[in-house]
Amino acid sequence: MLNQVIGSDILKDKVALVTGASRGIGQAIAVELARNGAKVVISASSIDNLRETEAEIKGLKREPCLLTQANVSIGDEVNDAVKITLDTFGQVDILVNNAGTTRDGLLAVMPENDWDTVLSTNLKSVFLFTKACSKPMVRQRKGCIINISSVVGLTGNAGQANYAASKAGIIAFTKSAAKELAKRNIRVNAIAPGFIKTRMTQNLAPELQEKVRGQIALGRLGEPKDIADVVVFLASDASKYMTGQVLVVDGGLVL
Ligand code: NAP
Repeated sequence: MLNQVIGSDILKDKVALVTGASRGIGQAIAVELARNGAKVVISASSIDNLRETEAEIKGLKREPCLLTQANVSIGDEVNDAVKITLDTFGQVDILVNNAGTTRDGLLAVMPENDWDTVLSTNLKSVFLFTKACSKPMVRQRKGCIINISSVVGLTGNAGQANYAASKAGIIAFTKSAAKELAKRNIRVNAIAPGFIKTRMTQNLAPELQEKVRGQIALGRLGEPKDIADVVVFLASDASKYMTGQVLVVDGGLVL
């Protein structure tokens, strides 16, 4: 209970970079990593969007945090964000690929642009950040990469062919990267959240939310912290013998 207030030191001396850290799940991940002792680099498409997360981390009175702007689907911006991280802290130990977006619609009428936007924001971004961070991690001979997928990447979902494909792609990418990087002492795992209360899901009609709640074994929608707590576990030595895994964190939605 006490570590909910002051945090633990399990991530002390670690530098963590979190994409999509301006709100929702990414914000909770950044705050929990900071609460557990990490120096956190928070990233979003604009610095202004990161002020709320910055204030929360500063309120913990622990390690400093760094703000970086990057459109996650643009290689040069991703490389700049990683370079600023290394210039400031000299290392990157934990990468959380969390940024994501949706453009839902039936595939027969899905604009090509909606396919491209979702695939590049959700999947190409994971390749770009992993590539940029794996180089310093290889030099350090240690590292930990956590990719935020979705249960939809396991089950598919009508109206989300683009999103589901991107999230399934993250799972295949995670397993491939885990195999490639294990000999360098870099672990790569994924989390597949179920239905979490964030801006991404807030527009779903109340009756649909009720329907989803009825399908969740634990009987409630998820909170961003439910995902962040599992990220802390995967980022810590408590999971040191795990790589290439997909942890489903959905309250028992997909059983
Ligand atoms: P959210 O509230 O909409 O937040 C999305 C985050 O991604 C924001 O910080 C946003 O930052 C960032 N982002 C989006 N496009 C970006 C871009 N091109 N460049 C840089 N940053 C970008 O969503 P969330 O619900 O927290 O979702 C976080 C992750 O969890 C996503 O990958 C999502 O697919 C996944 N997930 C969510 C749920 C759920 O139920 N909520 C379930 C399964 C998986 P700015 O707009 O400030 O740039």
